[in-house]
Amino acid sequence: MEVMGAVNAVVQASALAKKAWDLAERLKDVELRSCLLDLRGALNDAREQAEQLREENSRLRDEIRRRGDSDDVRRQLELRAGGYHLRERREGYADGPYCTTCMDTRGELVLMVKKEPPFDVFGYLCGRCKR
Ligand SMILES: [Zn+2]
Repeated sequence: MEVMGAVNAVVQASALAKKAWDLAERLKDVELRSCLLDLRGALNDAREQAEQLREENSRLRDEIRRRGDSDDVRRQLELRAGGYHLRERREGYADGPYCTTCMDTRGELVLMVKKEPPFDVFGYLCGRCKR
């Protein structure tokens, strides 16, 4: 079941419980009202849990999408002039150079920056691993 379906089912069940509560009040049935109060509490718990699941589900979907995207980028890398560069231009990504140490050890795409003069003759520096 989709998480949104679960949230909607709980919302519907809450509305039905409210209707049942109104009927119980009209009948002046104390035992039924007490039972409905418990039901209401249980439905509120279920609603909160469904909301948490919906948020977690959305976060996990984003993470899966990002991972797929980064796997794509990884396949596009080639080693050139001391760093990884993208073979083809890609929207949202610089061409490079990306740190080989960060990519090869942790699988992270970290863009390197040119060293400040007069050290720029030594090329680029990774802000993450400082190599
Ligand atoms: Zn690095």
